Amino acid sequence: MTMINAYARGGSDSLSAEDEALIARRESVLGPAYRLFYRTPVHFVRGEGVWLFDPDGEAYLDVYNNVASVGHCHPHVVAALARQAAILNTHTRYLNEIVVAYAERLLAKFPAELANVMFACTGSEANDLAIRITKAFTGGTGFIVTEEAYHGVTEAVASLSPSLGHLVDLGVHVRTVPAPLASGGPQTGAVFAEGVRQAIADLRRHGIRPAALLVDTIFSSDGVHADPAGFLAPAAEAIRDAGGLFIADEVQAGFGRTGEAFWGFARHGVVPDLVTMGKPMGNGHPMAGVVLKPEIAERFGKKSRYFNTFGGNPVSSAVGIAVLDVIEDEGLQQNALAVGAHLKVGLESLARLYPAIGQVRGSGLFVGIDIEAGGLGADPADVAARVVNDLRDHKVLISATGPRANVLKIRPPLVFTAANADLFLERLESVLSGL
Ligand code: PMP
Repeated sequence: MTMINAYARGGSDSLSAEDEALIARRESVLGPAYRLFYRTPVHFVRGEGVWLFDPDGEAYLDVYNNVASVGHCHPHVVAALARQAAILNTHTRYLNEIVVAYAERLLAKFPAELANVMFACTGSEANDLAIRITKAFTGGTGFIVTEEAYHGVTEAVASLSPSLGHLVDLGVHVRTVPAPLASGGPQTGAVFAEGVRQAIADLRRHGIRPAALLVDTIFSSDGVHADPAGFLAPAAEAIRDAGGLFIADEVQAGFGRTGEAFWGFARHGVVPDLVTMGKPMGNGHPMAGVVLKPEIAERFGKKSRYFNTFGGNPVSSAVGIAVLDVIEDEGLQQNALAVGAHLKVGLESLARLYPAIGQVRGSGLFVGIDIEAGGLGADPADVAARVVNDLRDHKVLISATGPRANVLKIRPPLVFTAANADLFLERLESVLSGL
């Protein structure tokens, strides 16, 4: 059977014979745990800026991929990668200028308290390391995450990722808290913090000492929750009052995406104890890291050495510097703010015209749109799946997320322009009017 993704509602009848054959080969070697996106899977051979191209040269507007945050195949990043790959690529156990220069450059993007960085290759590895460090620092083993959180694939991190589904066990030391209120009302912070306090009490009742609260600061898999800015602060205080630490997972929100700040946590006026990051850090090159307070790093460093063969290698460091150059030189955080605001206005006017569009949430170029049955008499998840697939047929890439899989996830590369946003809105409107 062809394994297509969760949005699959139909066959793959418009696939070319070549793509049918590629799917069959793929299934036979990659096995059943892999899924392809879309009712009719899409095949890409090239990328440039906000565009991805299929084998026939057809262009698809990328409104989904936050990894290629500074644009697919950005020439400055590609040149930095190629240049360093031709000079030297080893690891962090030899003295080398570039890894130190990158660490300094990255840390300059953080509040002064967050003054150490440890490099890894994936967001999962960064979160896994953060778990080890927080356990070592606090002596606790209890972790608190949101009900639909996703933090990665390692054994430890999958046990903190309820969005993997009920067949993937949560750890006995893990407690979940409800996502922040979708209304974004003024009580959001107090309600979220109360959930954290109850989780702390439940851990203690079971004899488990809290180690950390770990949250994705844009709550992507929980359905995108950004407002009101500041709502995370009381929860961070609650975990610290209990002797635990606050870990901000910036894999989704980091590197300027929210427009209002370079990091998702900064919108909330909190300084985390540890920050994990990945995806956009290398614009597609596998890079991740944990930024943390030196006193926390110190206790871990006394117990354990840390070495990650590929993490922070000279080529990755050159790429990381180039990514920061582009974000700064092209004003991409400001672009995310301006284009995100423009996009939101357009989406809100579509919401007034089409009952399938409910609440529009988010910050900068991370937007979640609630899809409602809207008189169509269908499950909102099915309507969302239809919108996602119909947009794919209109050569626009998005996805759906959230506990009920009915939140459209809008997360384009940060080089997205107002004209790109208008094209997206135009094609979304065609899809909505055809529902
Ligand atoms: N944290 C969050 C919030 C994520 O969204 C993801 C990936 N989707 C990860 C961690 C894991 O990152 P990676 O896939 O690079 O291991």
